[in-house]
Amino acid sequence: MKKYDVIVIGGGPSGLMASIAAAEQGASVALLDKGDKLGRKLGISGGGRCNVTNAKEIDELITYIPGGGRFLHSAFSLFSNRDIIAFFEGLGIALKEEDNGRMFPVSDKAKTVVNALIGKAKSLGVTLLIHHPVKEIIYGSGRVEGVKLNSGEMYKASAVIVATGGKSVPHTGSTGDGYPWAEAAGHTITELYPTETPIVSKEPFIASRELQGLSLRNVKLSLLDPKGKSVIAHQGDMIFTHFGLSGPIALRCSGFIRGVKKKHNVSQVTMSIDLFPDKKIGGLEHDMRQLAAAEPKKALKNVFKGIIPERLLPLLFERAKLPGETTYEHLPKEGWLAWIQLLKNFTLQASGTRPFEEAFVTGGGVHLKEINPKTMGSKLMQGLYFCGEVLDVHGYTGGYNITAAFATGYTAGHHAGKRE
Ligand SMILES: Cc1cc2nc3c(=O)[nH]c(=O)nc-3n(C[C@H](O)[C@H](O)[C@H](O)COP(=O)(O)OP(=O)(O)OC[C@H]3O[C@@H](n4cnc5c(N)ncnc54)[C@H](O)[C@@H]3O)c2cc1C
Repeated sequence: MKKYDVIVIGGGPSGLMASIAAAEQGASVALLDKGDKLGRKLGISGGGRCNVTNAKEIDELITYIPGGGRFLHSAFSLFSNRDIIAFFEGLGIALKEEDNGRMFPVSDKAKTVVNALIGKAKSLGVTLLIHHPVKEIIYGSGRVEGVKLNSGEMYKASAVIVATGGKSVPHTGSTGDGYPWAEAAGHTITELYPTETPIVSKEPFIASRELQGLSLRNVKLSLLDPKGKSVIAHQGDMIFTHFGLSGPIALRCSGFIRGVKKKHNVSQVTMSIDLFPDKKIGGLEHDMRQLAAAEPKKALKNVFKGIIPERLLPLLFERAKLPGETTYEHLPKEGWLAWIQLLKNFTLQASGTRPFEEAFVTGGGVHLKEINPKTMGSKLMQGLYFCGEVLDVHGYTGGYNITAAFATGYTAGHHAGKRE
C-alpha cells in the first residue's frame, strides 16, 4: 500500500493548485486523475485560450459568483486573483487583460497554463498519476484514512482533497464522482443543476426557426417572476438558436430559471428583452417619432430596418398589431404605443435549459455550511477537504469559476499540507 501525507483526487485547476500548495508546505503529495491527461476542462475553457482569472477588485468579482461568492472571502484573502496573476507570471507565463477584466495567457493557448501548473507540481515533487480512477474514500472513526482505486489498489493518507469538479461536460472527466464520497462522510449535496447553459423556449417563432442565428447586440434580458418582477437581468449580447437563446447574457440568466420555476411552481418562466436598454421609454418614443416623421411617406418597416434587426421586424409588427407597410402619415395611435412598449419589453417564455452535457458549470454541490471557509476542510470528517466545482459554488463565465477553483484549491492544499 502506497502512503502519502496528502492525496488530491482530480487534476483540474483546483486539484493541481491544491497539490502545489500542499507540497509547498513540505507534505508528500499524490494527485490521482482518472483521465488520460490533466486539466482537460481547463484546456477548453475560454474558447481554448484559458480564461485563467479575472482582474476585477475582489468585492466586485464576488458579485459575478452568484452561487456562494461570499463564502470565498477567506479563500481570496489567502490566494486572490492578484496572487493567481503573480503565480503564473512567476512561472514565466505572461498574461493579458481583455474585456471585462478577463485574463488570458499572452500565448492565447490553454496548454501554456496547464503545462505551467503540471511543471510547478512536478518541480515540488508531487506524484502526478493519470489513469488512476478513485472508487471511494476510506473513512475510519471520524477521520480520513486514504482512498481505494477502481483497480482495488489502496493509497493511505491522513488528508484527502476532493477536487473532482461538477457534472457538466462529462467527457472531460467531471462526472460527479465526488458527491457520493461527500455523502458517505455525512455531507449534504444541494440540488445539482446545469448553469451557464443555453435557454430552451417553445415559442412558435423559435420552433419555426425564423430567428435562428440572429444576434442581438447590447440588449437587456430579464427573467420575471409570475408577478412580472425582475429576478435577474443582464445587459449584453445574445443569439436566437433553433431551441431558444444562447450567448453571454442568456448563459448568465440560465442558472436562475430552475429557481423561479421551483419557487413559484410554474413550468415556464417569462423572459423580457429590452432592445434599447440605454433609453427610457419617453426618450425612445421621441427618437422613434422623429425618425418616422422625417420620412412620413415611407413604410415603417423600411424606416426602422437600420436600427432594429430586419429579421425581427415582422414579428415585432405582428405583436404590436401594427402593419409594417403603414407610414407615419397613417400611424394608428394604439399600435404606435404598443410598438414602443414592445421595443422595451419583448416577452417570451423559457421552458428550461440545455442539459449538463452542454453546461459550462454545475450549480449546487457540497453544502457550504458544512465546510470551514478558512481551510476548505470538512466540519464533519477530519482530514477531508473539498475545492473547486464540487462545492456549492458557481460563477458566471469570464474566469470567475477558474478563479474560485484556484483560490479554494490553494486554500485546501495549504491547510491539508500543514497537516492541521
Ligand atoms: C467549455 C467550457 C468552457 C469554460 N469556460 C470558462 C470560463 O471561460 N471561465 C470560467 O470561469 N470557467 C469556465 N468554465 C468552467 C471551469 O472550467 C470549471 O469551473 C473548472 O474547470 C472547475 O475546476 P475543478 O478543478 O473544480 O474541476 P474540473 O476541471 O472539472 O476537474 C475535475 C478533475 O477530476 C477528475 N476526476 C473526476 N472524478 C475522478 C475520479 N473518480 N478519480 C480520479 N479523478 C477524477 C477529472 O478527470 C478531472 O480532471 C468552462 C467550462 C467548460 C466546460
